[in-house]
Amino acid sequence: MLLDQATAEQLKALESELTAEYNAILGKNLSLDVTRGKPSAEQLSLSDAMDGILDGSYKAGDGTDTRNYGGIDGIAEAKQLGSDLMEVPTANIVVGGNSSLTLMHQTMMTAYHFGLTGADSAWKNIDTPKVICPVPGYDRHYTVCEQLGIEMVTVPMTASGPDMDAVEALINADESIRGMWCVPKYSNPTGVVYSDETVERIAKLGQIAHKDFRVFWDNAYAVHDLIDNPPQLASVFELTTKHGTENSVLQFASTSKITFAGAGVAFTAASSENLAGLKKFLGACTIGPDKVNQLRHAKFLPSREALMSHMKKHAQLLQPRFDAVLSALSKAFDGSDLGSWETPVGGYFVSFDTRPGCAKATVKLAAEAGVKLTPAGATFPYGNDPEDRNIRIAPSVPSIEEVVGAMEVFVVCVKLASVRQALA
Ligand code: PLP
Repeated sequence: MLLDQATAEQLKALESELTAEYNAILGKNLSLDVTRGKPSAEQLSLSDAMDGILDGSYKAGDGTDTRNYGGIDGIAEAKQLGSDLMEVPTANIVVGGNSSLTLMHQTMMTAYHFGLTGADSAWKNIDTPKVICPVPGYDRHYTVCEQLGIEMVTVPMTASGPDMDAVEALINADESIRGMWCVPKYSNPTGVVYSDETVERIAKLGQIAHKDFRVFWDNAYAVHDLIDNPPQLASVFELTTKHGTENSVLQFASTSKITFAGAGVAFTAASSENLAGLKKFLGACTIGPDKVNQLRHAKFLPSREALMSHMKKHAQLLQPRFDAVLSALSKAFDGSDLGSWETPVGGYFVSFDTRPGCAKATVKLAAEAGVKLTPAGATFPYGNDPEDRNIRIAPSVPSIEEVVGAMEVFVVCVKLASVRQALA
């Protein structure tokens, strides 16, 4: 049934039917959680062989004793791993500690306070530097901006990436736009892969934007495919080279969802000018990253082939969980006007848009029925989803049976929230 076409009587009948279904769920005393975008214990165990892999040999290929201080930009073997992961030349890579979010924070802080290309380029030199945030997006990107006092301007995500007409219009209209967040592959949370045209338009932004404008290209899900023959993301590195905009994009990735989420290795890829600015900042923070961990990662994942075959093992664990989410959504909502979603073939999330004004009520109903969902609004800057529509579902941690159970509840909650709102 289409809610928009239902009569008041039909809505009332539906409401009582759904309330009965919901009350039956309440009686089950469920405790399920689909909030966490992190690997399951089974996924983490895929990398347990890293433990002890060095077997007492701590020397890198060039003789560096990885146990000691130094090597601010990482050992050569780890740069190779970064290159295999990000498909960028090793010369353009810096290897950090365990978290790409840290590198993104440090890079944005450098851009803001010190300038990536010298003091003149510091964003703080203007009153209100602004960063473009495609929405829905990754909440921790927003936290970085909020902490640094950088104003966020939103643009909608589409099925092919950020609405580039909106992005270009903002940049053309406002000289104080200094940056943009992007999760180009299996975007958090929509699961969208940016189209070739979108990537090329992003690579060309450096031609129209202020010279200190930087895209923060967070490729957190670069190799996190769920299917064979996955979509290919165009190379922003090659496209910025083609368009002479090398300084306008900094890329980030990590092994957090490849090996150990709390003990992986993170990478930044950028032009030599940008890397010089970042390394100057890093050099004031640390005498060097954890090179022992870098070496054991390089031993564990010695080639692109090894990396991709390791990722297939993750896919085997994740795919049935995504199937459970997507088939529940299809069964409940195909052909209805109750919600919309993308069908991701990689990454960690499924993003569901309810009818306007129904996301918070859905999350609340689900919580009361024992199913924890990410708070509505979390995928928008300042936690404010102006249309109150978006809900992020993260199925990696629960068992398949738990995902199925959570989706049964989710579906009823979406329907009930929608019908109650239509009646109100
Ligand atoms: N970027 C995105 C888009 C993410 O979804 C996440 C984690 O969920 C991260 C970065 C965190 O990466 P890291 O563990 O390397 O800090």
